[in-house]
Parts: sequence; structure tokens; C-alpha cells
Amino acid sequence: MTADVIDGKAFAATLRARVGTEARRFEADSGRKAGLAVVLVGEDPASQVYVRSKHKATVEAGMASFEHRLPADAAEAELLALVAQLNADPSVDGILVQLPLPPHMDEAKVIAAIDPDKDVDGFHVVNVGRLATGLHGFVPCTPLGCLMLLKERLGDLSGLEAVVIGRSNIVGKPMAQLLLQESCTVTIAHSRTRNLPEMVRRADIVVAAVGRPEMVKADWIKPGATVIDVGINRLPPTGDESKGRLVGDVAYDEVRDVAGAITPVPGGVGPMTIAVLLRNAVVAAYRNAGLDLPKDRL
Ligand code: NDP
Repeated sequence: MTADVIDGKAFAATLRARVGTEARRFEADSGRKAGLAVVLVGEDPASQVYVRSKHKATVEAGMASFEHRLPADAAEAELLALVAQLNADPSVDGILVQLPLPPHMDEAKVIAAIDPDKDVDGFHVVNVGRLATGLHGFVPCTPLGCLMLLKERLGDLSGLEAVVIGRSNIVGKPMAQLLLQESCTVTIAHSRTRNLPEMVRRADIVVAAVGRPEMVKADWIKPGATVIDVGINRLPPTGDESKGRLVGDVAYDEVRDVAGAITPVPGGVGPMTIAVLLRNAVVAAYRNAGLDLPKDRL
């Protein structure tokens, strides 16, 4: 069997187009653009790239993008004051503080300062609690993107066995909550899990969010299973490569021969993350303006 490739890039482009339609509808209904503010502290090169692409995608979707930069040595109080200002600004619907923050800042404290109804990353404990109890809130972008890909591929997930490898707050745990909400039977695996290959072999759905290049092997996979690879790992350069290849947490070439469907790296989960961020920002705009956005539209 050769697995179908789940084209996250194409799905993300469709989602971004739908977000654009809803952003224009929001502007027509409310008289203002939906607004997303992104805060970057310091000069971390990867974070600068993310922030630039978020800004570009926000503008392309017809939304207002507000970028705020603070120096790496800014005081935590300065960042908290900026967050308070953005919380109070009615033109800002979503706030994203780019992580990681410099070591002298307390990330948990900064996230807790964001208004939960503007927390489009879904990291605030209020949104974590809403997700855990099945209330409406914001769900972290990467796992929500994974769920969208799974539903597009499989339709109803009810009763399926899912194994999520990784238990981080930004990917593994919310992914497990989302799958549970879809009535999957969910197992969360982590670095202390025993007999991981055996456990993964039971799964109809495997989500790998570990950060270990090509860890999940073909003989871990039940034939026909759907495999979602969240990992992004850069291998050391070989031969004449100037930069090493990007690979996921799944040994793609061999797992493709066993799985029913699989996301590639790059081009699978990665492009979904920004598309879902934009989706969350438009949903925030509708909610903050007290306007109705029917659930099936985004
Ligand atoms: P974390 O490092 O926060 O979490 C990794 C998890 O993997 C931990 O729960 C850890 O277990 C578990 N783990 C580590 N080693 C093993 C092992 N040998 N067997 C089983 N489990 C193990 O990572 P993130 O969740 O933030 O990210 C995971 C991956 O996803 C990374 O490659 C990251 O780059 C990528 N990523 C991709 C995104 C995208 O947009 N596509 C967005 C976010 C992340 P324990 O808790 O016991 O330590």
C-alpha cells in the first residue's frame, strides 16, 4: 500500500481563502477590519521569520496587522503594559505574543495577562479550561489544524483509536482533548511511555509531536492508519548541502508503504498553523463585535 499524501499546503490555502471571505464580510458588517496584533521581544531569527510571515498572511487575508517590537532587554513590566494596552484597544481582536520570550521574562505571567477573548493562540488557562470542558474558546492553532486535516480525510472520527505522541501544552495535550471531543479513544504517549511501538500499532490515528527526527517507524504503524506528523527537525547538512534537510518525527519514506494517509514535512501540518491563526482572529473579531459567525462558515 502507498499512503495518500495529505496536502496541508492546499488545504491551508483553501482555509485562508475562506478566512479572507469572512474577514471582508466582517468589515462590511462592522465598519472596521478584524485586527491581529503580534508582539515580538528580541531578535531571535526564527521568531522574526514567523512574525514576518504572520504579518504578510494577515494583510493578505484582508485584516489589519499591528506589529509591536520590544528590545531583548525590555523589562517584563514594559511587555505587560503593552499587553494591557492591546487588551483595551477595540481595533485589536487577537493578540499573539511570539514565544519564546527572553529568559528574564515569565511566559506564564505574560500569557495570563492577555484577555482570554483575544488569546488567539489558545494558551491562556481560561481557554485551556474551556477546551477541557467543551466550552467555546480558542484552541491552539497547530492541533486545531491537525484536527481539520483529520476530519477532511476521515470524516467522522467517532470510536477510532488515536495515539498522540507528545504531551506539550501547545500540541500534544490540546490535540488529545480535541480527539476526545470527537469521541476517539485517546492515548497520550511521552518520553516515559513503555512499549511505545506496540501502543502506536493499535492506532487508527497517529499524531507525532515529539521533536525527534524520523522516530516513528513503519513497523509501528497499523496498515491503513492515518499519520499526522507535527515534527519539524532539521538534519545536519550532508555532502554539498548548505542546510540540512527538514524532516518530521515520522520516517516518511518507509511509513508511506504502510499507512493509509500521511502528512509530509514540509507541506503538511506546518502551513495549517498560520491559516488557523488567521481563522481564530476572524472568529475573535466576530465575537468581540457581538456579531454572529455560523459555525460551518469557518
Ligand atoms: P516539546 O519538546 O514541548 O514536547 C515534546 C514531547 O515529546 C514531550 O511531551 C516529550 O515527553 C515527548 N518525547 C520526547 N522524546 C520522546 C520519546 N523518545 N518517546 C516518546 N515521547 C517523547 O515539543 P512541542 O510539542 O512544542 O513540539 C513537538 C514537535 O512539533 C517539534 O518538532 C516542533 O518543532 C514541532 N512543532 C511544529 C509546529 C508546526 O506548526 N508544524 C508547531 C509546534 C511544534 P516528556 O513530556 O516526557 O518530556
